[in-house]
Amino acid sequence: MSLIFTFEQCGFSVEGWDEGNPYIINSKGKRVYCYHPSLETEMEQVVVELLGPIYTEQARNEVLATRTGNAADHVCMHCGNIFKLDPKHDPMQCPKCRQWEAADAVKAFEMGGMPCPKCHGTMSEGAMGAIS
Ligand SMILES: [Zn+2]
Ligand SMILES: [Zn+2]
Repeated sequence: MSLIFTFEQCGFSVEGWDEGNPYIINSKGKRVYCYHPSLETEMEQVVVELLGPIYTEQARNEVLATRTGNAADHVCMHCGNIFKLDPKHDPMQCPKCRQWEAADAVKAFEMGGMPCPKCHGTMSEGAMGAIS
């Protein structure tokens, strides 16, 4: 499910998903984002694309161990840019302002009560958004 945080004073708004953005890297090296409820089917499609129609359990596990990750939506506390970031694999830097280090990134889902990056007021606790 998602939470929507809005800051009424400046209108800044961000939606965060509790499950983040799970992905699997396809044969072209691109991240394919897979979401509930078809997450497993979509991941399986990429596994088949990589390994062909016949593969062993071991090969499949290896693909899942090495080519999957989770790039949750993050908010840059400097410029308010919202972007997908996998803390395990991506450089800890905002692609827009390139200003922050790890401590300045906040997961969109955890924005409740945080200072607004635009006007520095405090964000709302969040309203329930979509459910998946
Ligand atoms: Zn930024
Ligand atoms: Zn604000």
